[in-house]
Amino acid sequence: MAKIIDGKAIANALQDRLKEQASYFAMRFGRKPKLVVIMVGEDPASAVYVRNKIRACENVGINSESYRLPETTEQSELESLIEKLNKDETADGILIQLPLPSRLDAKKLIPLIDPKKDVDGFSAENLGALVLDDKRALYSCTPLGIIQLILSTGIDLTGKHAVVVGRSNEVGKPVALMLLQHNATVTICHSKTVDLGAVTRTADVLVVAVGREKLITGDMVKEGAVVIDVGINRDANGKLCGDVDFDSVAEKCSFITPVPGGVGPMTIAMLMTNTMKAAKRNVQ
Ligand code: NDP
Repeated sequence: MAKIIDGKAIANALQDRLKEQASYFAMRFGRKPKLVVIMVGEDPASAVYVRNKIRACENVGINSESYRLPETTEQSELESLIEKLNKDETADGILIQLPLPSRLDAKKLIPLIDPKKDVDGFSAENLGALVLDDKRALYSCTPLGIIQLILSTGIDLTGKHAVVVGRSNEVGKPVALMLLQHNATVTICHSKTVDLGAVTRTADVLVVAVGREKLITGDMVKEGAVVIDVGINRDANGKLCGDVDFDSVAEKCSFITPVPGGVGPMTIAMLMTNTMKAAKRNVQ
């Protein structure tokens, strides 16, 4: 039976370490680091994510400022807000909570955020910096958290076969690049992959970021693999679940993340880490 990777505990420990950095920052520079969160509309899931991010800021000692804008907000108003925040020297990190209402175009807004304040790491500059192994850049939070969870098992990624299922710009592609930075041999699968199970069965480390309940079952996993389940889905009873069929996979693998309590808390902890990093750069 697999050991559970306790993302919540690892994230809490990380936040505790950040508290010291945030308090040193406040003492040295006479203000706390600051994260600005922009949310448009009333999407309930987004509201929960924003609340969790603000709570984490309070816990770590980071100032948070949130803009809860109405559904009717225009693209041009968001452009002006981003422009204003880019100039605000006390705004160290800026993030736009996604998804935005369909009228608005996030692809045109994210490039407007100063890359040094892009704590989600979604901009072309920051993604490009990841390709170039530039460690000063802000990398995207969920992939950073996934790598921490994998390393927490004690596995040495060098030469291991890591399979990533999903190729989004936010999770699949950046996590594949990070696994490569750790010298894993990386394969990326997606909706057009033929015989997904044949590929996933060869994985020493399997990262699944798809958004399909129970896509990965026990017969698709190698004995002793490390399995990271990024997916957030609701089952028929409305209960949160991942992309991995936990019971059958946990019987075969060595380590597995739960949903909830795995990748989710780490994403927020890495957002706090990125905000701290952006704040330090901002005052240099
Ligand atoms: P996207 O929808 O952007 O990407 C999903 C990917 O899965 C695509 O690359 C798609 O392939 C691939 N895919 C779809 N169906 C299959 C299939 N049957 N077999 C193999 N691959 C398939 O999702 P995200 O990457 O943004 O998110 C993935 C999941 O992770 C979601 O459930 C999301 O909610 C969750 N998530 C969780 C976070 C957390 O903090 N815990 C943070 C971010 C996301 P193709 O490109 O060919 O369409």
